[in-house]
Amino acid sequence: LVSDGERQQTTEPDRPGDLLNLIRTGRARTRGELGQVTGLARSTVAQRIDALIDAGLVVEVGGAPSTGGRPPSLLGFNADAGLILAADLGATHSRIAVCNLLAESLAETTAEIDINSGPDVVLAWLEETFDGLLAEIRRSPGEVRGIGIGVPGPVDYAHGVAVNPPIMAGWHMHPIKDRFASRYGAPVLVDNDVNIMALGEYWVMEPKVDDFVFVKVGTGIGSGLILGGVLHRGANGAAGDIGHVRASSDDVVCRCGNNGCLEALAGGAAIAGRLSDSGLEASGSRDVVRLVERGNDLATRSVRDAGRLIGQVLASTVNLLNPSMIMIGGDLARAEQQLLAGIREVVYQRSTTLSTTDLSIIVSSLGDRSGVIGAAAMAIDHIMTPRAVDEALAGAG
Ligand SMILES: [Zn+2]
Repeated sequence: LVSDGERQQTTEPDRPGDLLNLIRTGRARTRGELGQVTGLARSTVAQRIDALIDAGLVVEVGGAPSTGGRPPSLLGFNADAGLILAADLGATHSRIAVCNLLAESLAETTAEIDINSGPDVVLAWLEETFDGLLAEIRRSPGEVRGIGIGVPGPVDYAHGVAVNPPIMAGWHMHPIKDRFASRYGAPVLVDNDVNIMALGEYWVMEPKVDDFVFVKVGTGIGSGLILGGVLHRGANGAAGDIGHVRASSDDVVCRCGNNGCLEALAGGAAIAGRLSDSGLEASGSRDVVRLVERGNDLATRSVRDAGRLIGQVLASTVNLLNPSMIMIGGDLARAEQQLLAGIREVVYQRSTTLSTTDLSIIVSSLGDRSGVIGAAAMAIDHIMTPRAVDEALAGAG
């Protein structure tokens, strides 16, 4: 995955950082293959690989099959060359992990904490949790190379701040990055919860689908857009906010102040509200799912109807962006059968034939772990850009 900043830069595909990426992504596994792919002289490849080995980023992992003579040694990416701290902060439920440089979790925990307690309380708790997890695996804060944090609200990605978040009292423009950057001496990336979920799913997807839309259907509704293999954040980080697309002429007022928003009609909170008005016990998305699982008729119909409304907005998204996959995650995705049936019905009916030829609509593969893995992936993508690797090598030398 190439970050936006990296794409805008004129790339020289033969820097040490480029060679590392070829090894990391499996596109070249020996010094000879690196020479073929980059066109670099054998001595130059050798010199750059030596620097990467000295920095601990590349290791020799044994011999490759050879047609004769001494087998060339296989090069591998050393995922243990550093640690990544990852946090998926939700409205009331958070998941925190310490990962290696492949976003594989080494220690992980979940906790119930109210994001409305404000940044001072939540971030102090997060620091303690990070330190606790590091201690648990006997690793030091000095090994941390990057930190990824997801929050449940709109984020200005360039500055790493939440902007007028509707459910995060006290977080507007709070400098989340500064606190962790100075504590761990590593870059900090902050994005909204849905974007990191999309990144997490893309990270583990095999084979990769380079144009896909991840839709979170929980209390609210939002989407993360991977276009051409790159997360599309838009000019201000607000891309993908499908929850506030007008989905009905109903007068239902949304928390954003407008009428008829998708989220105000088909979000978990909205469905729970309607079920509760009908005398059922439902205060949130999880209660809705529980009622569906118990076979409650009204809940089942409500979720299917919500799926149809979401499908209506997604049909426009499909016509506009032509993704080859739509992945549905969030709490309501647990009522998979009902929700996806409604979505599929409308998307295939209302999108153009060409745009749906290769379109699959599936449920999230990582469930409630996609966010924390995506937070780690976001940090890894940032520190593994060729430019960042080269700077790190220059700093070490
Ligand atoms: Zn709205």
